[in-house]
Amino acid sequence: MARYIDIHTHRQTEQPGAIAIRNVFARDSFRQEGVSPPFTGGDLFSVGVHPWHADDIEMDIALDMIRVMAQLPACAAIGEIGLDRACDVDFDLQREVFVAQCRLACESGLPVIVHSARTHADILQVHKSNVFPPIWIVHGFRGKLQTAGQLLRNGARLSFGEALLRAPAPLREAFLAVPDDRLYLETDEAGCSIMDVYAAAAGLREVTVEQLREQLYANFIRDFGITHEDTPMA
Ligand SMILES: [Zn+2]
Repeated sequence: MARYIDIHTHRQTEQPGAIAIRNVFARDSFRQEGVSPPFTGGDLFSVGVHPWHADDIEMDIALDMIRVMAQLPACAAIGEIGLDRACDVDFDLQREVFVAQCRLACESGLPVIVHSARTHADILQVHKSNVFPPIWIVHGFRGKLQTAGQLLRNGARLSFGEALLRAPAPLREAFLAVPDDRLYLETDEAGCSIMDVYAAAAGLREVTVEQLREQLYANFIRDFGITHEDTPMA
C-alpha cells in the first residue's frame, strides 16, 4: 500500500504509515545545538540554510557541511532554502545563500525544498538564471491561483499544509488548479498529522484518501527516485 508522504516537516515524532522528510537547519547542526538525529525510523531528511539564518552562518563552512550531509543516503533534498521578505535579514545576502545552495543541489543531484514568503516573483527571477535543479518544490504554498500558475509553468511542484484544513476560497482555487502530478502535502510545524492534511486535501479534490496516497507516492518515487525500502533505517 502506498505510504503517506510528508514532504516537509519539523516534527520529530514518527507517523505510522508515512515517509517524512524532516528538516534540519544547517545552522543548528553546525553549532551542534539541540539537533536530534534527522533520520530515525526510516525517515529522510533535508538540510539547508533557511533565509532567516543567512546572516548567522559562515557560508563556506555551512556549504561544506551541507555537501557532506548531502552524501548520506537518507538525505532526500536540500532545504528548506529560499527567500523571505517578511524577515529583516539582508535580501541580497539571502539571495546569495539561496543561489549557492541551489548550485549545491544541482551538484549533488538532489531536489530543493523552497521557502518563499512574499517572494514568489523573486524566486522566479532566480529560476531564470538556471541555477535550480530540475525538481523544486515550493513548500507551504498559501498563494493565489495566478501565482500557482506562474510557478507551475516554470516546473515547480507545490506543497500544501495545514492551511487546507480551513482552506479560504483563494487558496482552495489555487489548490484545485494544481495538476495531480505536481502536488505534495506536508505538516511543516503544524500540530495536525499528515493524515489530517490528506483527508482535507482529498475532500477538496473529491477523491478518496487512497487515490491521493497512490498519486503522491508515485510523484515521490518519480521525483526522488527513492522508496522507503531504500532508506537506511527501514
Ligand atoms: Zn518549514
